[in-house]
Amino acid sequence: MKKRKEADPFRINRYDIILTAALAAAAVICVILFAGFHDTSEGAFVRITVDAEEYGIYELSQPVQIRIETDRGNNLIQIRDHQVTMLEADCPDGYCIRKGPISRIGDTIVCLPHRVVAEILSADGHADEFDVIAQ
Ligand SMILES: [Zn+2]
Repeated sequence: MKKRKEADPFRINRYDIILTAALAAAAVICVILFAGFHDTSEGAFVRITVDAEEYGIYELSQPVQIRIETDRGNNLIQIRDHQVTMLEADCPDGYCIRKGPISRIGDTIVCLPHRVVAEILSADGHADEFDVIAQ
């Protein structure tokens, strides 16, 4: 019986090694870039927008509850202990309630059904790349 020689599909050649190394390097670069751009320090303000219009900017150091009532529904946002939480919402998905609390610059709570967004800003009103998406 003659044994046929076949290429071993699991054999690793040098191109596989180069590809794997390149992918690993790309992954590391992505992590470094993301960590660099994403400011994870404590925010100073929270900006609330409703239907892409600014509803108000509130200091995180001032405890307050903000009730937002629109034709789409109601939301109750709480600022306390330097954190923002969606306390109540009568939206169908309830995702915004499960999201909170947030406190880092660039963090957002989005109530998509009601088009309500709470976004953490730094002391100079900077909110990072999320601004671009919101416009
Ligand atoms: Zn919601």
